[in-house]
Amino acid sequence: MSTNRQINGNWGEKYVRSQVDCPKCKSQNRSFRALRVNFAGADLICDFCGYLAQVKLHTKEDVAKCPKSLPGAGWDDQKERMDAGIFTPIFIVVANSKKSKKAIYFLPADLQTEEMFVPGKPLPKRPTYRMTTIKFGLATCFPIKIR
Ligand SMILES: [Zn+2]
Repeated sequence: MSTNRQINGNWGEKYVRSQVDCPKCKSQNRSFRALRVNFAGADLICDFCGYLAQVKLHTKEDVAKCPKSLPGAGWDDQKERMDAGIFTPIFIVVANSKKSKKAIYFLPADLQTEEMFVPGKPLPKRPTYRMTTIKFGLATCFPIKIR
């Protein structure tokens, strides 16, 4: 059974796939494909050039601005990737609760810095596990033109 988070996540991924051209190869054939659920580190892959991207879905009534922060991956995974110099481009889908208003923002990998990824407190039920909070600077999120 899918959780609400997965259902919403799938909706965000589908929306990006239907609206966004691959930023690397500029393919206009809606070339993004979904990776399997729980694939670590990415949600979409370009079926033409192999470009990887993450999709984050954020619900808020005013879709005109990129959110200031969003929950990210587990901190240990995030830290390990950053130590290896790996950053993954992020599409941020912002939609109101009825999904009648939507916007997509883009944060390229080149503009991501280690300072944007902040470790959270250990989880009460899993004291060795911490999540990451992604803090977006206003200057680094680009609105994507929706088809
Ligand atoms: Zn591509």
